[in-house]
Amino acid sequence: MVYVVSQGCTLCGMCETECPVGAIRVGKGGAKIDPDKCIGCGSCADNCASEAIVPAP
Ligand code: SF4
Repeated sequence: MVYVVSQGCTLCGMCETECPVGAIRVGKGGAKIDPDKCIGCGSCADNCASEAIVPAP
């Protein structure tokens, strides 16, 4: 299962730091999770202060 970033993202960058496989990039346009790199560990979601990261539908 991969995770995606929802609209609640405040660009704090915590997820980028927490991802063990470097799947997240935070830029001006928002945080993006590369679905080809994500291993679905949930670390980003657990550490998101805005609860903006959710499992992909
Ligand atoms: Fe990275 Fe894990 Fe989040 Fe996937 S679920 S983007 S591997 S921290």
